[in-house]
Amino acid sequence: MPTVPVVTPAIILSTLRYGETSKIARIATRDLGVQSAIARGALRPKSRFGAALHLLSEGQAYLILARHGDLHTLTAFDIQVVRVALGERLDRYATASVLGEIMLRFAPPAPHPESYDVLRGALDVIAAAPSSVVDLLGLRLLWQLVCSLGFAPTLDACVRDGRAVPVDRPAGFSTGEGGVLCATCGAMHSGTKLQPSDRSDLMALIDSGTELPLLDDSHLAAHRRLLSRYIRYHLAEGADLPALAFWEQQPWVTP
Ligand SMILES: [Zn+2]
Repeated sequence: MPTVPVVTPAIILSTLRYGETSKIARIATRDLGVQSAIARGALRPKSRFGAALHLLSEGQAYLILARHGDLHTLTAFDIQVVRVALGERLDRYATASVLGEIMLRFAPPAPHPESYDVLRGALDVIAAAPSSVVDLLGLRLLWQLVCSLGFAPTLDACVRDGRAVPVDRPAGFSTGEGGVLCATCGAMHSGTKLQPSDRSDLMALIDSGTELPLLDDSHLAAHRRLLSRYIRYHLAEGADLPALAFWEQQPWVTP
């Protein structure tokens, strides 16, 4: 009996040459989570994959699931969306690369359509974003991806004891605890101090129903650092995140 492939919406997150003619792709799939699959013959001149296995290409993946181990076989990838605009500007590309990197490292190898849909929507938004807002939108979209993976920070009450944290006073922010601290807890922690405006900006960034806050270059940089630190602490566990490191250090507002 021939093995029937599983067909799922998918986005290519990375590819690696394997042997003379094949590639191993890491793929975000809507139905199976992030999976690895070998595309045999993908590097042959007349491969049926053609140019399909490009970074962040979106389409339908045809996967023969491995009976043992976790390396599946990709028998075909029908491209449906090529976001050419992502490759046209470094600011867009850098932001999209971080989204892909976070998905690749932290989405589970099990169905997790929430994060897949956030990633897919985020790539659309970044591809269409004017340069003047790529930086801000990138912060929002990255926070949304982090939240969809289950790591939303607590910003409306103390993350340790749930006490109210007045919105009109500076509040401590603990990366490790994952949120703001009341005065009592804040006194016992050395951490980032969030001014009232920084906290409301952060809340506005994360809430897609709210208008984007207006941030100058130094505040944008501070928010990039806060988010990077948060991702490294909660998700990375010391892993190397080159796309995040690159993104963090750049002012993406084009002069
Ligand atoms: Zn507290």
